[in-house]
This record gives sequence, structure tokens and C-alpha cells, in this order.
Amino acid sequence: MYDVVIIGSGLGGLACGHTLARKGLKVVVLERQGQPGGSLQSYLRKGRHFDTGMHYVGGLDEGQALHNLFADLNLLSLPWKRLDPEGFDKVTIEGSTFLYKEGFERFAENLSHDFPHEREALHTYVRALREMGERDGVNISAWTWLNELFHDPLLIDVLSGTCLKMELRRDTLPLFSFVHNQGPFIESSWRLDGPGSLMVDRLIGDIRSYGGEVLCGEEVEELVERDELIAAARTSLGNVYEGRFFISDAHPVTTLSWIKESRKIKGVFRRRMASVPNSFGMFTVSVVTKKGALPAFNHNKYIYARGDVWGQHECPQRPVGAVLVTNPASDQIDILTPTLFGTWSRWSDTSVGRRGEDYKALKGVFAEECIALAETQLPGLSSQIEEIYTSSPLTWRDYNKTPEGSAYGMRKDWQNPLMTILSPKMSVGNLFLTGQNVVLHGLMGVTRTAQFTCEQVINSL
Ligand SMILES: Cc1cc2nc3c(=O)[nH]c(=O)nc-3n(C[C@H](O)[C@H](O)[C@H](O)COP(=O)(O)OP(=O)(O)OC[C@H]3O[C@@H](n4cnc5c(N)ncnc54)[C@H](O)[C@@H]3O)c2cc1C
Repeated sequence: MYDVVIIGSGLGGLACGHTLARKGLKVVVLERQGQPGGSLQSYLRKGRHFDTGMHYVGGLDEGQALHNLFADLNLLSLPWKRLDPEGFDKVTIEGSTFLYKEGFERFAENLSHDFPHEREALHTYVRALREMGERDGVNISAWTWLNELFHDPLLIDVLSGTCLKMELRRDTLPLFSFVHNQGPFIESSWRLDGPGSLMVDRLIGDIRSYGGEVLCGEEVEELVERDELIAAARTSLGNVYEGRFFISDAHPVTTLSWIKESRKIKGVFRRRMASVPNSFGMFTVSVVTKKGALPAFNHNKYIYARGDVWGQHECPQRPVGAVLVTNPASDQIDILTPTLFGTWSRWSDTSVGRRGEDYKALKGVFAEECIALAETQLPGLSSQIEEIYTSSPLTWRDYNKTPEGSAYGMRKDWQNPLMTILSPKMSVGNLFLTGQNVVLHGLMGVTRTAQFTCEQVINSL
């Protein structure tokens, strides 16, 4: 019998496993895939590592948002490299480029040179990013807030231009999500000098050293209820893991599907959860260039061919904007662009490697358009390409079992915070949720959410 059975070895599951095993609890993490890590996984092609859902993080310096959380998880000593403080993100809109400088005041001052008429509002903006409390802004529209603060639509585009890391939707995005996904990166931005799997290896190594277990190839199919509590997780191999507490790092609708009949979970709750939409997915192009062909740059390039960043995000039929992320030493660039599941849903019934020629053709068109966007900032890129690897939301869905291949999970909604910004504690008393669907997404958000989940488990001991 385990103290805690954790389902899913994404960052959410591993962070919970680490925290609870460190506290002396007997923990097992069950992962359906052959490889642990969920979105932190990297894959190997011809001896090169490619990252999937981990490119950069914010707030690692002492006193900043992620520092203590990563220190507790023993992740601070990994080879983190600071992105250029003089411009860690560069946002290009219709050919004009704007720099994000590190540090709240420097950030505001620098953009005040481009937008002198908005200087005061820019300082108010960074003050809000710095000071907003833990749950502030859950029922406030980020779009309305920005429009009440600023008058220049181009500045709103610039401030939202790095938001491929969240889903810009006027009718749903809470200020809470906007602030928590922007602020830490302005404090300081970092990438790993190596694959994201370094984080996975470190977390798993520690969990095992504390006596915990991480088991791959164990796909949970049922949570068995007894006396109105979860008694065990049963996997597709027929293995049964009994526990006192259960934490799911999977999508909440998937988690509910594992509980067959329960007086504790009302049908209306299941239906409501199932009706919450998921955020967009990502189309990614990983490009390998000829050796030394790329200029070295230590920042991310966000590129939009035209303005109205929010409007474009809401219905990205084709690549509207893209982020270019690179490791200067590696002759590799990742290009990411948001895309809706609907664009890919006609191949829903297919599996990896068996989706047919028309799917390959659409991926080819997306890749070409992403590379064309990238080429506006890296002239000659297309003539320097040696190989490309692409992925769509279907790829994501099939590896991580994320419904609709959503990049950031359930869509958070300022008009419906109760159903979209969830409590980790479920109505079945010993079942908890963690991961990006629950409170916040992204590496910082998921790590903080894991902390909330663990606090609730510990309070229930
Ligand atoms: C393309 C892309 C790029 C990104 N880049 C960044 C970035 O640069 N910085 C950043 O901060 N964030 C980034 N993110 C977001 C970040 O990766 C995620 O928010 C975070 O990793 C999600 O972690 P998680 O633990 O919630 O979920 P996941 O990583 O999805 O983990 C869930 C795990 O549960 C497992 N599972 C599901 N069902 C079962 C089952 N039945 N039994 C057992 N196991 C199961 C899955 O296989 C998976 O391993 C990116 C996301 C995408 C899509």
C-alpha cells in the first residue's frame, strides 16, 4: 500500500512525487508512456536532442518567482543559461522590432522610449505584474484591463506579442493567467543548456533516492472506489496500486473517466467539466541548419506579419505569428505557432506515422509558412536547412494523451473561474488534481500548482 499514487509523470506529477517523497511518504508515479516526463520530454534524431514543451523559464534568480520552488526540487543546479538581459525577447510586428529588457523598471523605461506617451501606464503595468497577489485577477478580463490602461493598440500588441505562451482570447483570458505568465520572464529569463530531459532525470533520480518509485508503461484505466474513497488505481496491464491518496496529473475529464460510478461525483459536474473548451495546440517545426550557418543569438524572436495580435490568435487558420527559439551553440531552431485542433481534427482517428499523404501535405504547408515568417528575421534561413521535424496537436494528443492536443490544457475563463481555475481537491476525499489544467500552466505555473496540491495532501494526512 502506497501513501500516494501519482498518475502521470509530467512536471506536475514529478514535482508532487519529489515533494511528497522528500517528506518521507511512500510514493509511486505511474506513467503510461515508455518514457517519463510528459511535455518535458526531449527526443533524439540522428544524435541530436529536440525539446518538446520546454524552451525557457522565468524568475530563477534569488528572490524571484521560481527560485525557491526550483531550489526545493533540486533543479537550480542544472546548467541554466540566462537569456540576454538587454533583450531576452524581441517582438517584431509588421517589420518593427521591440525589445523586452530584463527587470521591471528597465522593461518599462525601455518601451517608454518607443511609446513616450504611455510611460506612466507602462510603469503602472509593471507594478501590477510585480505586486499582483496569488489569486488576484481570476475574474478580470486581461483584454479589458490592457485596454483600460493603454491607449496605443500597437503597444498592446507588443505587450501581448510574447503570448504564444498563453491563449490570447478576449472573451476568456483572465488577467490572473496573463500576469503570472508574463511577470516571471521579465524578472529574468533562462534556458537549459541541454535537453529538458535533464529536469526529468534529476527529479526521478531524487524521487528514487527518497525511496519513491517511477514506473513507465503503466496506463491507468480505472480508479477503484470503496466506501466513497479511491482505494486503488488499475492499469491496462492489470496491475493494481493501492494507496491512501491519489493525485492525477492528467486532464480532469480523463481523470473523471477513470471513476465509473460514484455518489461523490455528480453527473452534472462531469458534464460541466466536459463542456469546458481546451486551449489551442501548437504546430512546431524543429529545423537543423548547416553548421555555423546561423547567427548566434541569445534571445527569443516573436514574429507577426501584421498587427492585431489578439484577433489573430483567436482564429489561427494558418500560422499567424511564431516564436523562434534557439540554442546558439547547436545549429538548431524551433519554430512554434498556435493552431486550433479543428484544423487537424479530420485526422482524429489516425495514429502517429499513419495519417496519410494529405496530412503530410498540410504539415508541409504549415512548415513552409513558419519558415517564411522566420526568414523575415533570419534572411537566407531556408537555403541553410538540412533537416526539419514537425509536430501538430495530433502528435501531442497521441504522446501525452492531452485532449485535442491542447498546449495548455483547459481554457481558463474570467467569466467562469469556478469551473476553469480549479481546486486541486476533488469531491472524492482522497483524490487530488495537479498539472497545467488546474490553476496555472507553463513550467512555473505547473510547479506552483504542484505546491498547492501537495499542501492539500499534507493537510489531509
Ligand atoms: C510546444 C510547447 C512548448 C512549450 N514551451 C514552454 C516553455 O518554453 N516554457 C514553459 O514554461 N512552458 C512551456 N510549455 C508548457 C509546459 O510544457 C506545460 O504547461 C507543462 O509541461 C505541463 O505539465 P503537466 O505535468 O501539467 O502535463 P504533461 O506534461 O502533459 O504530463 C501529463 C502526463 O500524464 C501522463 N498520462 C496521461 N494519461 C495517463 C494515464 N491514463 N496513465 C498514466 N499516465 C498518464 C501523460 O503521458 C503525461 O506524461 C510548452 C507547451 C507546448 C505545447
